[in-house]
Amino acid sequence: MRYISTRGQAPALSFEDVVLTGMASDGGLYVPETIPQLSHDDLAAMAGFSYAEIAFQVMQPFVGGEIDDDTFREIVREAYATFNHDAVVPLKQLDANHFLLEQFHGPTLAFKDVALQLLGRILDHFLKKRGERAVIMGATSGDTGSAAIEGCRHCDNLDIFILHPHNRVSEVQRRQMTSVLANNVFNVAIEGNFDDAQAMVKASFADQGFLNGTRLVAVNSINWARIMAQIVYYVASAVALGAPHRQVSFSVPSANFGNVFAGYMAHQMGLPVKQFIIATNTNDILHRTLAANDFSKKELAATLAPSMDIVVSSNFERLLFDAYGRDGKAVADLLERFQKEPTALADAPLAKLRELFSSHSVNDTTILEVIREAHHRTGELLDPHTATGYRAAERARADQSTPVITLATAHPAKFAEAVVKAGFPGVPLPPHMEDLLEREERYTVLPADLAAVQRFVAENRR
Ligand SMILES: *Cc1c(COP(=O)(O)O)cnc(C)c1O
Repeated sequence: MRYISTRGQAPALSFEDVVLTGMASDGGLYVPETIPQLSHDDLAAMAGFSYAEIAFQVMQPFVGGEIDDDTFREIVREAYATFNHDAVVPLKQLDANHFLLEQFHGPTLAFKDVALQLLGRILDHFLKKRGERAVIMGATSGDTGSAAIEGCRHCDNLDIFILHPHNRVSEVQRRQMTSVLANNVFNVAIEGNFDDAQAMVKASFADQGFLNGTRLVAVNSINWARIMAQIVYYVASAVALGAPHRQVSFSVPSANFGNVFAGYMAHQMGLPVKQFIIATNTNDILHRTLAANDFSKKELAATLAPSMDIVVSSNFERLLFDAYGRDGKAVADLLERFQKEPTALADAPLAKLRELFSSHSVNDTTILEVIREAHHRTGELLDPHTATGYRAAERARADQSTPVITLATAHPAKFAEAVVKAGFPGVPLPPHMEDLLEREERYTVLPADLAAVQRFVAENRR
């Protein structure tokens, strides 16, 4: 399998190189050159398979033999054995035709575990094969950092440095990172805000000289392996509800568009999907683009669904590439204009997107209302991200006869503040995390100074 850039100028890469590379050298994102197909019979045969077996079958063509089948099967088995539910990502029925896909049974209680448990293991495998070590650096305002740390804590060939703004992440989120005491995990609390931390990570990727030749790897949502891992639960849940014999729709709480783009990939592979509903909070670039063809940046708003607080949806570029007939030049031109000024999509690509995608935006007041309403109607306590998906599913679904699956991207205990605001007494952490607030922590406080941070990384990597 070869991977090509959405901007058409970077060299095509193998799976191994794409996983180790992250962003393409022309500023684009890598996508598979051809899309493997799942036939009607392939899908029908998956009924009753374990999640790990479906995962192997869905992902194996993307790996393209670069990891031998037995090893890859074992990597997949180990990755999903870390989840606290035998179905890994279980479905729960809400009403006659509305289902919740619980993506929060992993180590950090949010859907990013699905991808990062796999990515860490794949990276470690390739590095071991090459006899190399690598350093991961990332900045987090809370959520992604812990999922990345949990995904890498057992990796012999990786050291991970996660920067968070000192005293500016919630206690639960900080402790999910800092209580991991593995000797390849380094938490750095930056005396500054998230943007300071982010800027230092970006500068480190731009000039990696401080690592003396050791590879710096990004595990952010543009890494192809994360998309690949997320395709699996679309297939598994649709099969559980009767695919390929009937169609399903999905409602996806969205920010960087990685989650819903994986669903689109499943559709391109042959999964019978009627509709993807993109749910946003008030950071609604995706909704404005689809509904009003307003493809423009808007100032960042802090919402009750903080993991969806974004200005730009980086993975949307991957969908644009297909919508523009895989014309890298057209995508590069559009995104260049977008960086400078408000712009719009051309008519034909927009029409194509609207055949499959709908969207709905949900503000904070409505998030609280939905948490109360969903609890009243179904007994389920939704987290604020999932609440946007729930409302979008009801407001934007095209027909009532097709089952709709809302992706529950986080456990309500992880975002208890919103749940309390909605009038509930709070949410206990699940049993395997009950003692989180008593666990020993380890982290280093550093000034918002690039040289100091880079010195810390260079001195502590193994
Ligand atoms: C990251 C995240 C999202 C958004 O997913 P994207 O792939 O960025 O669209 C939604 N909900 C939660 C809880 C998340 O952590």
